[in-house]
Amino acid sequence: MRYRSTRGKPQDPSLSFTEILLAGLAPDGGLYMPEHYPHLSEEDLLALKTVFERRGYPGLACAVMSLYIDDIPREALQRLCLRAYSEAKFSTAKVAPVSKIDEGTWMLHLSNGPTAAFKDMAMQMLGQLFEYVLAANETELNILGATSGDTGSSAEYAMLGKKNIRVFMLTPAGRMTPFQQAQMFGIDDPRIINVALDGVFDDCQDVVKAVSADARFKRRYSIGAVNSINWARLLAQVVYYVAAWIQVSGDPGQRVSFSVPTGNFGDVCAGHVARSMGVPIEKLVVATNENDVLDEFFRTGVYRVRSSAETLETSSPSMDISKASNFERFVFDLLGCDTGRVRELFGSQLNTRGYFDLSAHEAVERAREEFGFDSGSSTHADRLRGIAEVHRQHGVLMDPHTADAWNVSRKHLGEEPMIVLETALPVKFADTIEQALGFTPKVPPRFAGIEKAPRHVTHLPKSVDSVKNLIRKTVDG
Ligand SMILES: *Cc1c(COP(=O)(O)O)cnc(C)c1O
Repeated sequence: MRYRSTRGKPQDPSLSFTEILLAGLAPDGGLYMPEHYPHLSEEDLLALKTVFERRGYPGLACAVMSLYIDDIPREALQRLCLRAYSEAKFSTAKVAPVSKIDEGTWMLHLSNGPTAAFKDMAMQMLGQLFEYVLAANETELNILGATSGDTGSSAEYAMLGKKNIRVFMLTPAGRMTPFQQAQMFGIDDPRIINVALDGVFDDCQDVVKAVSADARFKRRYSIGAVNSINWARLLAQVVYYVAAWIQVSGDPGQRVSFSVPTGNFGDVCAGHVARSMGVPIEKLVVATNENDVLDEFFRTGVYRVRSSAETLETSSPSMDISKASNFERFVFDLLGCDTGRVRELFGSQLNTRGYFDLSAHEAVERAREEFGFDSGSSTHADRLRGIAEVHRQHGVLMDPHTADAWNVSRKHLGEEPMIVLETALPVKFADTIEQALGFTPKVPPRFAGIEKAPRHVTHLPKSVDSVKNLIRKTVDG
């Protein structure tokens, strides 16, 4: 399998999986895509089912991911999958189990990993892949990131103890939930460096961008990223759509639908890839919170990015986005892989006008009919109501992000089973649960005492130089 940019030119060379693994954005500003989606026949689907039954989630992960990876030997990939998706890390041998909620609805549990959010599903694999490729190239990597909570802790736990990798993670001082702070700052390892900047998340992100824009510094200190546009993260997420179909249906003739809490369009884009490969998926329901950039597109064909001032702080904070960084991948497919059009829309129109309009191109109809997309949004009040209702009727405690997906799924039920993606454990967002139910969720035993551990965090002013100095001092020793 070879990869190309969504904004590429025909003469650009294609790249291999390990070449794009550490690359982030393509030099032309586009995102890397495989040259085609391998097609799974009914026979292939049944073979994957057998693999899952005999060799579990790691076996399935290896079988699916190897369709897109030519330059890591199969045995090595198998080993990496076994390490990434162990029972010890995911506290269940199934890794991504499903449970039945009512007659037509299932929940896919993606938050059993080390940091109790679905980002672990991809990040654990990324940690293994990074370590493997860096060892082969005898190079080191300093990951620099900004987080409002889930991504940062997931990245730190995935990279912890990996050879040749260090993590610098910028957080907005005092703004994460107590559980999120405890999770990150509790890590005691000289190669995991937590930084609290006196600012908000956008300030952290601006500092990361400024440091990465200094090409000399970036090269000298081997600065890398783990952001959500990374193709390997998406690929790792394709696996659980297959695992969910196997567990709920397992019959190539019986389709299933998914409702996906959506921010940067990473999770649901993986569903789109799975569907494009022939996994029997009827609908992909895009569920947003009040930050409804994507719901708006799927209703109207207009994609309008928001300013940071227009981006609301909600009670499902991991979906508080102003633009959806993976969305370009879907638009690329929607436009029949027309890189010229993608360049015009994302490279030019968005920058000059702040929006583009595909309504004249039947984008809404085609997204629905050809690609199976539907959408909806839910508010804070909807979330509280959804959490209370599902708890009362089914005895299931949902986190606020999962609640967004649950709420929107109610409006898109069909004949086929509906699978709601659970993306975090309630304990991460205890305040909202308390508001909805009047009590705080129990802390799972594996996280007991986490809030008492000593904190490891460096406080810095929100300045590019202070962060650069910290990196220099740490790396140069
Ligand atoms: C990141 C995140 C999401 C959104 O996922 P995207 O890939 O950005 O669409 C949803 N829920 C939780 C808990 C998350 O951490």
